[in-house]
Amino acid sequence: MIKTVCVFCGSSMGNNGVYRRKAEEFGQMLVKNNINLVYGGSNIGLMHALADTVLDLGGKVTGVMPSHLADKNLVHQHLTEMHIVGSMHERKALMAELSDGFVAFPGGFGTLDELFEILSWNQLGIIQKPCALLNIDGYYNHLLDFLNHCVSENFIRSEHHHNLIVETDENRLLEKMLAFTPLHVDKWIDRLKEMG
Ligand code: AMP
Repeated sequence: MIKTVCVFCGSSMGNNGVYRRKAEEFGQMLVKNNINLVYGGSNIGLMHALADTVLDLGGKVTGVMPSHLADKNLVHQHLTEMHIVGSMHERKALMAELSDGFVAFPGGFGTLDELFEILSWNQLGIIQKPCALLNIDGYYNHLLDFLNHCVSENFIRSEHHHNLIVETDENRLLEKMLAFTPLHVDKWIDRLKEMG
C-alpha cells in the first residue's frame, strides 16, 4: 500500500511550461488517491508548484529541509509538517523513511542524486520500495539511453534496471508503483559469474 510518496524534483521550473503543468497534475492525482506528499520543503521551482497544488486541494505535505538551506529563505512556510535536519544525508535518510515510494520529476543534480541513491539502496536491499521516473516530454531520454548502455556493458544488472519504473503518464506510473514487487537478486554481477 502506498500512503506517502516522496517526489524529487527541480528547484527550478525549467524552460518548458509542461513541467509545471505536469507537477500540478501529479499533485491533483496524489490528493485524488489520498496519498500524502513528502518533498524537499522549499518554496522554489517545481517543488513549490507541486506542494502548493497538494495543499490547495486539502492534501498533506511534509517537507524535509537541511538547516543550511533553511537559513536561506527557501523554506515553504505553509506545509502541514516540516522537519529541519542537520545535513543533506540526514534529509535523504528521513525522506526514505517517511515514504512508501519515490518519484523523480525533471530536475538537476539534486534530483539525480536523490533518484540514484534510492535506486542504489534498493539494489543493495537497504530499502525495497518502488522508485519511478516521470519522463515528461522526453526530458530523461538521454539518461534512459545511458542506463541501457550501463546494462549492456555489464555494470548494472537488467533486473535492477527493470526495478526503475519509467512512465510519461502519472496515473499509469501510480498503477505500476502499486503493483511493484522488488526483485531479489545479488548486486554483484562478477561474483555471480564466478560462482557459475
Ligand atoms: P535540483 O534538481 O538540483 O534543482 O535539486 C532539487 C532536489 O534536490 C529536490 O528534490 C530537493 O530535495 C533537493 N534540493 C536541492 N536544492 C534545494 C533547495 N534549494 N531547496 C530545497 N531542496 C533542494
